[in-house]
Amino acid sequence: MTTSPSDEHLVLLATGGTISSRTRQDLGGAAVASDGADELLRSAGEGHLFPVRVVDVLRLGSYALDFDDMLLVCRRIQEVLLDPHVVGIVVTHGTDTMEETAFLADLVHADPRPVVFTGAQRAADSEDPDGPGNLARAIALAGSAEARGRGVLVSFAGDVFPARGVRKTETVRQQAFSNPDYGSAGSVGDGGEVKLAAAPAAHREPLPLPDDAAGQTCRVDVVASYPGADAAHLSASLAAGADGIVLQGTGSGNTNPELCRAVGEATAGGTVVVTSTRVHAGPVLPVYGAGGGKDLLAAGAIPSGLLRPSQSLVLLSLLLRLGRSPEQIAESFAARGGNP
Ligand code: ASP
Repeated sequence: MTTSPSDEHLVLLATGGTISSRTRQDLGGAAVASDGADELLRSAGEGHLFPVRVVDVLRLGSYALDFDDMLLVCRRIQEVLLDPHVVGIVVTHGTDTMEETAFLADLVHADPRPVVFTGAQRAADSEDPDGPGNLARAIALAGSAEARGRGVLVSFAGDVFPARGVRKTETVRQQAFSNPDYGSAGSVGDGGEVKLAAAPAAHREPLPLPDDAAGQTCRVDVVASYPGADAAHLSASLAAGADGIVLQGTGSGNTNPELCRAVGEATAGGTVVVTSTRVHAGPVLPVYGAGGGKDLLAAGAIPSGLLRPSQSLVLLSLLLRLGRSPEQIAESFAARGGNP
């Protein structure tokens, strides 16, 4: 659909993912991100409340994205929002790391206009693709008055979730996402009927987007704790120059004495360590000794609150790029990983 710049309109930012994927026989039958924003919009049919302008940002499977790609998506969102005729934005994105990019976009979102992420579980050339329906519902949500002031949302298979806490919890089922701690934000019907739950308390102060020109990089790794884990991965990460490490603990955020000792050495050396957990819901709490969460806190690790490793990585990477101190990072995790 073509629009003149003076019309009120929505913008579709396409980044790839299964929603844009087609099977490539020349690549051994692999599904590969192929369709651009134009084709995606055509697949979603006609009759949207607002005209939709399309922008291609990336054409990649989201499992292949890095933090700079995610920052690029956020920059495009902010550029698009400079146009006062834009009423909302839809971002099509692979589902694998939608929870990372949507959360990053939410952390820096300083505008009441809706930004809605969606994608698909089945490729564009599958027998029964779910992408067109997901996109049509996301377009309806992004153009709705109800979605204003709600931060960044994920719309998928009729469900709507706040970006914070959202997780891909199914590998192939159409209902791919859930939000165990922060809950559902509502639903969108097949005809575009938007029903959102009462708005949560005020949106947190947005963080700035790091300056593109500064060219600063930082390395943040996820290191897992599991029965028998030693400090080899953590040491390798430090040797590779990690500025930050997210420890994926067990239970309420625990590890063993050896890894805990290595965490203490890492924090003493200036690497910021955040303790998260592999458990899918509930807070990280400093309860146990013998390498447990209480010892990790004493070793200088920052509890992630309700944030899982995927979103802890995003918040920690952003704060480090913004040059925040360990104390400021701890405050930020307490505020942004806290209760709804
Ligand atoms: N399964 C993924 C998707 O839904 C692949 C990706 O994340 O790009 O798009």
